[in-house]
Amino acid sequence: MNVEAYRRIPVWKDVPLEEWETYGWQMRHRITTVEQLRQVIHVTPSEEAAVTKRDGRFIMGIPPYWAALMDPDDPTCPIRRQAVPLEEEYYTSPNDLVDPLAEDSHMPVPGLVHRYPDRVLLLVVEVCSMYCRFCTRSRVVGTSAGFSRGANIDAAIDYIRSHRKIRDVLISGGDPLTLSDERLDEILAKLKAIPHVEFVRIGTRNPVTLPYRVTESLCSVLKKHKPIWMSVHFNHPKEVTPAVKRACGMLADSGVPLGSQTVLLKGINDRPAIMKKLFHELLKSRVRPYYIYQCDPVRGTSHFRTTVATGVQILEKLRGHTTGYAVPTFVVDAPGGGGKIPVMPSYVVSYKPGEVVLRNYAGKVYTYKEEVGTDERAKAPLAEPSYALAD
Ligand SMILES: *Cc1c(COP(=O)(O)O)cnc(C)c1O
Ligand code: SF4
Repeated sequence: MNVEAYRRIPVWKDVPLEEWETYGWQMRHRITTVEQLRQVIHVTPSEEAAVTKRDGRFIMGIPPYWAALMDPDDPTCPIRRQAVPLEEEYYTSPNDLVDPLAEDSHMPVPGLVHRYPDRVLLLVVEVCSMYCRFCTRSRVVGTSAGFSRGANIDAAIDYIRSHRKIRDVLISGGDPLTLSDERLDEILAKLKAIPHVEFVRIGTRNPVTLPYRVTESLCSVLKKHKPIWMSVHFNHPKEVTPAVKRACGMLADSGVPLGSQTVLLKGINDRPAIMKKLFHELLKSRVRPYYIYQCDPVRGTSHFRTTVATGVQILEKLRGHTTGYAVPTFVVDAPGGGGKIPVMPSYVVSYKPGEVVLRNYAGKVYTYKEEVGTDERAKAPLAEPSYALAD
């Protein structure tokens, strides 16, 4: 989109570009009602019913930046689908769970999820600039769960300080970049002061949903606390606008390695060509595709979920067919709290000690002879790998 294309939308036609490009203006003018939505798109009956009904369900909030990217005439537009609720949100599938990853029961202190021995997930805020309809944490995001309360964050930081095995802290929410630079600086300083914390990661969607959040001032905070890694949530090639590329460029120039996280979404990015285009756009923007997530069984999101096989087929069409850097790991975050489990096509046709038969991306079969002596033969696992083979 041309930077000033928002001017085609009458309600914003007089907004000066300097104002449009600020985080504050965008947050103050977020779309939260059906009347505001009508000024930007042709609202369908399903959208209208869903937005009007809300009744305590997951909040809607769309920054004008994101809204201007929505196709006003196409209800299937991937940008629109991620932000505007449909009536289907009120349907609860028998597979739906309120807290699909059992995060609440893995919190030793409020807002801190300790699932793996050496790293933790620290939820620092419940606010986001845009509320994704399929949010894994919709049970707490957009509510007043209180993660951002100073006392809660301090208790979480005390926990990290007293658990010396924790070497990696992933800050998430909500979106941590909705906090002020000063508050982020404070939290990062406290974490970096803990000797066993080797580095911090920030999980965010702001560089995509509201890229004007990335400013020189934010970048200097991040630089100050290096090493900081960032995982940015991207779902569709249309999200990679000139403003987003600029934001990613500023972060990369500040020495922040960027990875992406993508949720596999039915009707949005569930085709190999779309994912490939997205990952190519990301590599051009200096973002390394990190994870594709199978959509978690969050309440009211069954219309977004496709099969695990769809994800495997997407990987099959990527590996070998494009740059290895453009191939993320596809994971199912285990319902109940087992963590991320990778799922991929199998390239092992058969295996016995001394001989591995493999197929390549084009389906051709090759044999690798292992150098095994009697000792290794005795130790080697027999014949079949322990996982199912793809056909
Ligand atoms: C995703 C996640 C992590 C980080 O996992 P990585 O595979 O290291 O990126 C850590 N803790 C929790 C609870 C998570 O959900
Ligand atoms: S940005 Fe992340 S935390 Fe916020 S609504 Fe979207 S998925 Fe949920």
